Amino acid sequence: MRENWYTDKKQKKTKDVSDMERKKILLVEDEVKLARFVELELKYEGYDVTVCHDGREGMQQITDGKYDMLLLDLMLPGLTGIEICRRVRKFSQIPIIILTAKDEVMDKVAGLDSGADDYMTKPFAIEELLARMRVAFKHSAGTAVKKSVLQVQDLEIDLEKRMVTVGGKLVDLTKKEYELLTYLVQNKNIVLTREQILNEVWGYSYIGETNVVDVYIRYLRAKIDEAFGKKYILTIRGVGYYVKEEE
Ligand code: CA
Repeated sequence: MRENWYTDKKQKKTKDVSDMERKKILLVEDEVKLARFVELELKYEGYDVTVCHDGREGMQQITDGKYDMLLLDLMLPGLTGIEICRRVRKFSQIPIIILTAKDEVMDKVAGLDSGADDYMTKPFAIEELLARMRVAFKHSAGTAVKKSVLQVQDLEIDLEKRMVTVGGKLVDLTKKEYELLTYLVQNKNIVLTREQILNEVWGYSYIGETNVVDVYIRYLRAKIDEAFGKKYILTIRGVGYYVKEEE
C-alpha cells in the first residue's frame, strides 16, 4: 500500500453540531497516522470520535460504550475486524463500515457476510467515507421504522423481528442475505438487475463487482429453494433476478 495517501489537516475547525445530535463513532484502526487523520476529519464533520488501535481494546469499547457507528480496520492486532463484526452482530444492529487495504472480492464477501454494512478499500477519499457513513445511517434508520410481514406463497419475512420462515420453519440468514431476500420480495414479480440490487442492498454501486450479487443469490437459493424444495428465486439470463408470486 502507498504510504501517506492521506494528508494531515490538523488546523481544521469543527463544524457546529449540538451535543444532542453529535453521533458517536468508534474507529478501530492500528495505523496510528491514518487513524488520526480519519479522527480529525470526522471531528471536523461534527462527529464524536473514539479511536482504538487494537482489536481487543476496540471490542471492549463497544461493549462498554454507546456508539452510533463502527469503523473497523480488517487486519488488527488482538482481534480482526471480521471477528469483531461477528461478535457485535450477536447483540447489535449498529451500522458497521470496514476499512481495509484488502481489495479481493472474497475478502469483501467475508466482511459483508460477517455483518458489516459497507466496505472501504484503502486508499480512499475521506469524502467517500463520509458519503457512505450517511448512507449507512439512513439505512439503519429506515430498517428501524418498518413494521409488517411480507409474504410469497409460504415464505414469510417478519420485518420487525427480521425473521424469515418457510412453511413456518425458521431460516437462518446472514444480514446481507436477509436484506437481499427482503428487497427481492418487496419487488416480487419485477426483474431486478444486479446493479439495482447492489445499489439497494449494498447502498451504492460497486463498479464491475456485480458478482457479489450472484454469490449471495447462490447462498439464498441453497438456504431457501434447495433446503425446502421450492423455486422462489428465478434468473433472467443476462438481466437479473426476481421472486415469483404464483397466481
Ligand atoms: Ca491494520
